[in-house]
Amino acid sequence: MTELTTRQRYDFKRDLEEISSLRGQHTELISLYVPASKQISDVTNYLRSEASQASNIKSTQTRKNVQAAIESLLSRLRYHRQAPENGLVLFVGSVVTGNNQQEMRAYVFEPPQPITTFLYRCDSTFHIDLLKEMLAEKDVYGLLLIDRRECTVGILRGKKVDLVFYDTSQVPGKHGRGGQSQRRMERRTEIAAEEWYKKMGERASEVFRNTPGLVGILVGGPGPSKRYFAEGKFLHYELEPKVVDLFDTGYTDESGLKELVGQASGALQHLGLVKEKKLVQRFLREVQKAQSGVATYGEGQVRYALNAGAVETLLLSEGLRRYRVQIGCSQCDYLAGDRTLKAADVDNRLDEKCPRCGSRLVVKSKKDVVDELSELAEGSKATVELVSQDSEEGETLLKAFGGIAAILRYPLEIPTKLDA
Ligand code: ZN
Repeated sequence: MTELTTRQRYDFKRDLEEISSLRGQHTELISLYVPASKQISDVTNYLRSEASQASNIKSTQTRKNVQAAIESLLSRLRYHRQAPENGLVLFVGSVVTGNNQQEMRAYVFEPPQPITTFLYRCDSTFHIDLLKEMLAEKDVYGLLLIDRRECTVGILRGKKVDLVFYDTSQVPGKHGRGGQSQRRMERRTEIAAEEWYKKMGERASEVFRNTPGLVGILVGGPGPSKRYFAEGKFLHYELEPKVVDLFDTGYTDESGLKELVGQASGALQHLGLVKEKKLVQRFLREVQKAQSGVATYGEGQVRYALNAGAVETLLLSEGLRRYRVQIGCSQCDYLAGDRTLKAADVDNRLDEKCPRCGSRLVVKSKKDVVDELSELAEGSKATVELVSQDSEEGETLLKAFGGIAAILRYPLEIPTKLDA
């Protein structure tokens, strides 16, 4: 499985967003999921039989469109002897465009995670649910359940829980005999319990320290033992700050792991957002400073700071729906320079004429502004942070600051009137 970088994740998300917005006039958009295990020749045969069945479609237009889409799929599959490791996903079909025209579109993906089942679907929309699931964040958490009798350790990846080990203790139960022997017994019990916690702490620490990408640890159990364990420094000191919280569960065996994750879900959701909340809060503190604040916002200002190499962290809202476009003449080689347009405006006709030949100006090329600014930032080794709209701070970044902001390396004099 390939781990997506933040940027790849963003690009993938945007592609899926675009694809999911497309509509066919009728059921004529084809989604094809090919797992690596499937022979391409089998897929080709399958498509040929679909094509012959399509000849029964009554509407001439729909029939033609479906057959054209299948032809297009067949010709694309010709490039592959075999599906790649994670399989192949193709979306092909005639989509309705702005002016009620139809246009043939084709998208081919090698998904970031393996596809397991073959799927052929002809519908009025493309089927992207399977790909969407692959976008879910895959944070890794350590799970630990403990009391005096049992200890279970597991790992949570995304929504998947894996058991790592289960162990039971030799700590004697508490049963009274009275007198001297009772106290001796109690003392022995306490020593045994201490050793049990120590041993489990070491085993769990070894597991957690060797789990790449571990962001937190959830500790659970039915009684007070979990608190005693968590506060008793039984985990390696590097792991202590990673303990998210303690949670009550009814069980300390494998069945308790799912229970633990359920109990912690609220805390986990909150945790995922903590990093971006903190970033935006830091930006806001800088912006509010009357003097020598190291922050700026607005596309023109941020571009200026990026070009000066003064940006430490570039904050971009995932809710930005803008393109950096190059405008030029439709007839001659006149270029009118770059502009930033709202996604909705990119396909609109421009009401401008070429100053050289009087022909219409058009959009020559476009690039998602998040990608374009990220590349600019990478040039000066600035960190790029994509901020979701899932927190109040994320909303503020988009609504109050236009979704483009920067924390600077040093205070910088930036002209207030700047065009993007
Ligand atoms: Zn011109």
